[in-house]
Amino acid sequence: MEKRLIKKDVLAGIVGKIAGDVNLVAPVKEEDNVLFELVKDGVTALSSYRNTKNAPKAFFFPRSETLMRYTRKEKGYEFTGLGEDVSGQTVIFGVRPCDARSFVILDLLFDQDKYKDPYYIEKRANTTVVAVGCTKPPYSTCFCTSVDGSPMSTEGADVFLTDLGESYLAEFLTDKGEKLLKYFGDAKADAGAEKKKEEIAQAAAKEIKKTIPAHEIKAWLDANFEHPFWETVHKKCLACGTCTFMCPTCHCFDIQDEVKAADGKRIRNWDSCMFPLFTRETSGHNPRTSQKERWRQRFMHKFRYYVDMFGPIACVGCGRCVMSCPVNIDIRKIAEDISKL
Ligand code: SF4
Ligand code: SF4
Repeated sequence: MEKRLIKKDVLAGIVGKIAGDVNLVAPVKEEDNVLFELVKDGVTALSSYRNTKNAPKAFFFPRSETLMRYTRKEKGYEFTGLGEDVSGQTVIFGVRPCDARSFVILDLLFDQDKYKDPYYIEKRANTTVVAVGCTKPPYSTCFCTSVDGSPMSTEGADVFLTDLGESYLAEFLTDKGEKLLKYFGDAKADAGAEKKKEEIAQAAAKEIKKTIPAHEIKAWLDANFEHPFWETVHKKCLACGTCTFMCPTCHCFDIQDEVKAADGKRIRNWDSCMFPLFTRETSGHNPRTSQKERWRQRFMHKFRYYVDMFGPIACVGCGRCVMSCPVNIDIRKIAEDISKL
């Protein structure tokens, strides 16, 4: 694995050069928020930020995406093309380790042996992920270490940057990552830099003060689908869907056709298990009639069903849902409460 040491003051130049050659997505300041956005002329990528408000999954699995277009003919319909041109070569720069792990978790769903999502897969294949370790975990709501992550996890990253103080250690972890080597100069990292990174990683993991019993509750979830506890979780929930839209691993979607005169397009939109309409069938029957059932589904999906289907818990501990829920429903507390039952 190639490793380079780069002075801090050259990072902005590196980012600028990459943006000149390929699409660059990076954290940018938008009013009071930091958001992942496509960096265009006049937009400056941030080098110092905590984490972004939005999860970067939207660049592989857009909020709204045209899958295909068609036109009506005298007899039937004619396919006229796929949706938006897929992005081309892209670098997502400055992804935090929890969000980089979310890509690996989403890959398991969108790129299975049996089911393949070509829209997602093409964007993933064309995108290089440059992650930046959390030398100091950004929020008190972070709990990545409880769900198999860590502030310096390299999972999902093609290039991993560690802030060593005066400079960054850049590790080129994959073939895609190594294609970016040309931007990073030729100052090889020495053993001292690697040792410093190890010390930083250990200190950062200790800074995650919040732990939840994410694995320990699985057996209870397996056995307690009808437990009265589920009557309590949803009581304050407004069914706004914010928690699911902010989440880097939530991936439910709906497909609709929009037709204007003879021309139509088939669109995939994010959906949310928090919405009553999500499960309503054409007949009008709805198998999840209450918010209790919807909240149970959300929790079970992350901590039980996804584990059964693919292995990992479908939560990376980013804390976005905890910070964004308007009525302070806290997924960490639900896990803790379950562990006491
Ligand atoms: S953000 Fe809070 S109120 Fe909104 S759907 Fe999620 S749990 Fe319910
Ligand atoms: S469930 Fe909440 S804490 Fe877990 S990954 Fe989703 S938004 Fe982050």
